[in-house]
Amino acid sequence: MKLNDYSNKRLKMVETQIIPRGIKDVRVINALKKVPRHLFLDDALWPQAYEDYPAPIGEKQTISQPYIVALMTELLQLKGDEKVLEIGTGSGYQTAVLAEIAEQVYSIERIPLLAKRARKTLDDLKYTNIVITISDGTLGWREHSPFDGIIVTAAAPVVPKTLLAQLKPGSRLVIPVGEEFVQDLIVYTRKDGDSYIEENYGGCRFVKLIGEQGWRN
Ligand code: SAM
Repeated sequence: MKLNDYSNKRLKMVETQIIPRGIKDVRVINALKKVPRHLFLDDALWPQAYEDYPAPIGEKQTISQPYIVALMTELLQLKGDEKVLEIGTGSGYQTAVLAEIAEQVYSIERIPLLAKRARKTLDDLKYTNIVITISDGTLGWREHSPFDGIIVTAAAPVVPKTLLAQLKPGSRLVIPVGEEFVQDLIVYTRKDGDSYIEENYGGCRFVKLIGEQGWRN
């Protein structure tokens, strides 16, 4: 398939899966139009890279459905000058979408092979505003905190308190919380001090967030 065919597929993905479902933030729409999602997958999966579902990325993990990536990014309400923390680098696709919008992205992955592959893909695409580390993301990244937004792309049994504590006042944590096979997408907005507003954006299904403040392995 030619390069052009992938950019056409990407445009079609945005026009049929993203905009009709209510994503309005132009920054998010433009990022999804731009980031070459197929390059974050094994080349055998390239023909399906712009379809409306998650796809395997190895190590029993998945790249999320494009709409979920768009929705979670929109819920962060980024304007462009933010420092964002992502938990669950996976393929690096969501990381790239964030890096298109925010000033600086810190991303944590617990599986070394995935982190290494994501780093290579993101370097090949010439992203210079992404730092990736291998560790337990349920504990956040204290050294670079507080953050203007935190996004967790794996499901937690309860919201990790450490992540809430690493938000700046007024900033948002977007995280799937719930049982092993079904969760709700929750946004926590930090008010002054240690109070938070909690909003529920409905059902979703993610792989487990494994760590000290997540599921046990
Ligand atoms: N956002 C990714 C993408 O665009 O490809 C998909 C992420 S995948 C659904 C969830 C990822 O979270 C997996 O790569 C998994 O290894 C990672 N993960 C699970 N628990 C973690 C933890 N405690 N810290 C960091 N990463 C974790």
